[in-house]
Amino acid sequence: MKIRQHPRMQGIQVGDEVYSHLHKIVARVAELFPAAVCVKIATLSVEEPMALTLTPQLWPADDIENLSVCRYCGRREQIRTLNEAGIPFQVCRLCTPPTGEESATGA
Ligand SMILES: [Zn+2]
Repeated sequence: MKIRQHPRMQGIQVGDEVYSHLHKIVARVAELFPAAVCVKIATLSVEEPMALTLTPQLWPADDIENLSVCRYCGRREQIRTLNEAGIPFQVCRLCTPPTGEESATGA
């Protein structure tokens, strides 16, 4: 059986920052799978002695937003973070809507 890659997985690389709509947190990609990414979540133990451990988690491609590329065209250059209803995402200069604060400067 052929494993089909999820379309959203195409632009993701190891080391990219991804946002999970499910967990509402941002994490760095440690491993890539055809339809999911493996991230390492730092968890703080509440028991004594307190310890910070990295717990691997699988995030399905449907639940994540890649914060290292432009959301619309997938570019990695000249991107900046926008916030929409509290969910961060990246937009490059070319895909930024012209009605932003930048057009007001006239530059
Ligand atoms: Zn773009």
